Amino acid sequence: MDNKFTFRIGGVHPADRKLSRDCAIEVLPLPEKVSVSMAQHLGAPAKPVVAPGDRVKTGQVIAEPAGFVSAFVHSPVTGTVTAVASKADLAGKMVMHIDIDVEKDEWAEGIDLTPELVTPLPDDKQLILDRIKAAGVVGLGGATFPTHIKLCPPPGKTAEYLIINGAECEPYLTSDYRMMLERPREILIGAALMQKVLGGPKCIAAVEDNKPEAVESLKDALHFLQLFSKDYENIEIRVLKKKYPQGGEKQLIDAVTGRQVKSMGLPIDAGAVVQNVATSFAVYEAVQKKKPLLTNVLSVTGDCLPPERQHNYLFRIGIPLRYIAQVAGGVPEEAVKIVSGGPMMGKAIANLDATTVKGSSSLLYLSAKQTLRREEGPCIRCGKCAQACPMGLEPFLLKKLAEVGDQQALEQNAVQDCLECGCCQYTCPAYLPLLDTIRIAKADVLNLIKSRPKN
Ligand code: SF4
Ligand code: SF4
Repeated sequence: MDNKFTFRIGGVHPADRKLSRDCAIEVLPLPEKVSVSMAQHLGAPAKPVVAPGDRVKTGQVIAEPAGFVSAFVHSPVTGTVTAVASKADLAGKMVMHIDIDVEKDEWAEGIDLTPELVTPLPDDKQLILDRIKAAGVVGLGGATFPTHIKLCPPPGKTAEYLIINGAECEPYLTSDYRMMLERPREILIGAALMQKVLGGPKCIAAVEDNKPEAVESLKDALHFLQLFSKDYENIEIRVLKKKYPQGGEKQLIDAVTGRQVKSMGLPIDAGAVVQNVATSFAVYEAVQKKKPLLTNVLSVTGDCLPPERQHNYLFRIGIPLRYIAQVAGGVPEEAVKIVSGGPMMGKAIANLDATTVKGSSSLLYLSAKQTLRREEGPCIRCGKCAQACPMGLEPFLLKKLAEVGDQQALEQNAVQDCLECGCCQYTCPAYLPLLDTIRIAKADVLNLIKSRPKN
């Protein structure tokens, strides 16, 4: 596909390896037990409202928001609560969970489980927002920021663009791709609902040119929806030139609108709101079907797996990762590392007994060859890391400042803008652990900024 849209600064071109792209979404069978995390979103963990011994229905609220930036959590199954207790998440961090013994599904009242597509949009913006909030919808592109808050720009800011993020630029991941192929109409209805809440900005669904089938699928769906209503007229499907990390909010805004978000700025400062395709689908279900966010799609993939063992599963939140690995045929012998997310920005899974959360997107198996750390050499001042950095930073300098612990200089050199994309480390010919060092320095500087008294 011939196109010219991409972001202007930095970026790299890792191999696609979309090995599970042709695997249709399969519904993952339910296990005997689930364990639902209270920390499935950015912000304050949700507060449990059930206790051991309670019987819960599928889709019933089991935890409420515990602050302004927080979200509802619903039971993904029907069954009996057996524990409300702290346990380790996939990174080993202790988080409150609600354990439920699973029985046959009995859905909470009011949820529309019929397969019919609902195309007419409600007129009442507040009703749309209230349903998104009540359904516990959060951003499914990685950040898990509560969606109802993101759809309410602060006073004085206006959304001129709503960008639906279908870039899925990380190698291996295919869950968004499959959603664009299999549920494009729902994704676009979700987009139109968010467009309505935001006061009717231009909506652009952006997809990279390595996914021509997804582009065609969305175009067909848009054509279909436009036959029904004028609500779908101000939506465009935009093809982007493939480059990593195009799915980053700031990079996507640049690619689509030509606008750049300033250092430490927010997308809305550039007049844009970005929502992932899976979030858009969740918004459709929340508003048109009154269905809470209980499910998402996760790819089981990696070079260690033969084609027949690659999968895209529709999973319910709270299902243990180990169970998913077992259903998918077990952890392959060659796998030395399992990652949640892509190989560039994903997080290593330290605890396979942890459970899936709203934002889970993969079980990616990496082999010894793929995780091999080459021997570090001295920095040869080639500048490749700076050329690759999509945020215009100087990674070699940040690493140096981090090594001497100069937090003031790190802040002055905008370490907080680092989006942890790994482009610098990927491109460094001396194999220096630039991202690893900068990530720690960034966390330290953010703690320092937070500790300052507010005026
Ligand atoms: S990880 Fe940070 S410093 Fe490195 S390229 Fe990405 S944004 Fe730049
Ligand atoms: S890419 Fe590596 S070797 Fe080149 S300047 Fe950056 S840190 Fe130094």
